[in-house]
Amino acid sequence: MDQNCVFCRIIAGQSPSEMVYEDDQVVAFLDLNPAAPIHVLIVPRDHIPSINHITSDQEALIGHLFTTAKQLADSNGIAKSGYRLIMNSGPDALQTVFHIHLHLLGGGQMRFPMG
Ligand code: 5GP
Ligand code: ZN
Repeated sequence: MDQNCVFCRIIAGQSPSEMVYEDDQVVAFLDLNPAAPIHVLIVPRDHIPSINHITSDQEALIGHLFTTAKQLADSNGIAKSGYRLIMNSGPDALQTVFHIHLHLLGGGQMRFPMG
């Protein structure tokens, strides 16, 4: 728990969020500033500042972010229509919250190319 981290405060119930999923390893809540009709953030309970900080003993946890995203895509009815998963790392990728999170974006046609 990092008191200076907005996602740690949400996970601890100290800041509000629209929580859509919780288990012992991850939580998922709606993005405050959605970039698509469906925009959910899947967030590990552990405070991991960026992809650069992921360790090999966290591989199962990182995999769990993806299986959770897949389930949320299904429960939101976008498994077949399609969706995009994004995890930004560092300034060039415009990471703004330094607690890793997987963006689940869907519910409409995405733009391409990315970047
Ligand atoms: P990043 O740029 O770090 O990949 O994405 C951070 C995301 O977190 C942004 O899409 C932003 O809208 C979202 N966000 C930032 N602060 C909050 C907050 O307090 N609550 C929620 N629900 N989302 C937030
Ligand atoms: Zn945190």
